[in-house]
Amino acid sequence: MRVLGPRRGRTPALLAAAALGLSVLVGSGAAVAGHHHGPQAVQPPPAAPSSASQIQNIDQVKTAIKGYYGDEIDPTRVNPIDGTPLHTFNPDGNYAHEVGGIVRSAKKTLAFAKQQHPNATHRAVLFDVDDTLLNTYPYEIYSNFVYNPTSNAAFVNGDVFRAVPHMVSLEKKAEKLGYTVFFLTGRPETQRSGTIANLTGEGYDVTSSHLFLKDYGVDTWLGSCASACTTTQYKSLTRKHIEKDLGYRIVGNFGDQYSDLLGGYANRTFKLPNPMYYLP
Ligand SMILES: [Mg+2]
Repeated sequence: MRVLGPRRGRTPALLAAAALGLSVLVGSGAAVAGHHHGPQAVQPPPAAPSSASQIQNIDQVKTAIKGYYGDEIDPTRVNPIDGTPLHTFNPDGNYAHEVGGIVRSAKKTLAFAKQQHPNATHRAVLFDVDDTLLNTYPYEIYSNFVYNPTSNAAFVNGDVFRAVPHMVSLEKKAEKLGYTVFFLTGRPETQRSGTIANLTGEGYDVTSSHLFLKDYGVDTWLGSCASACTTTQYKSLTRKHIEKDLGYRIVGNFGDQYSDLLGGYANRTFKLPNPMYYLP
């Protein structure tokens, strides 16, 4: 949810996929629908720990996040708020490599699904935006991992996010295989033009009518949760709209949050890594 108020709790995004019983792919394992492949997500700390020994040290977690992404200064982009240099990920770092493994297996999965139904029309692939197609690491470093809608909007509209490594290639591959590509984000409708500018600037092919942003006035198919949909409700009801009202079959659903993937209306779900925040 990107619209109002504090979006994130302070709990690190260390969620056990197994505990949720998800059919997701994490890491570089083979792409098999309905099974969890690759590294397991880390067990989160209890909500009410009885001892500090049950909680990871937050400074050490931040250091680990920077090590995972391969923190470096972006030589070409500056902070849209204060003009200072932005941090970015190392394109040859562990984050980039881990996404690369997921993308390789996803390409095989999409190609195989196409082979199985060569004449099927209205086959679709759906991508979340933040940390699925556009990497927000520079914002997380700037904000010290504390989301603020005003400063976040400056980054979104400042067109500064780099593509998540390998994802432009995956989006192009999906198109080449004949899939219709949809985009589904919790960003508000007011950020449509900024979102399209950043996505297209990074090389994605975006059809505006296939980009869904959150707007309770527009998204009439959200009726059942009215103006207070959870992320899982917002996203799954929009996928239901794409499948039931628009007549597409969503073959692959890609997201960095489990709330992007829960709730059905996709044949296969792909989990991108994001240890920076957790959206329930
Ligand atoms: Mg996301």
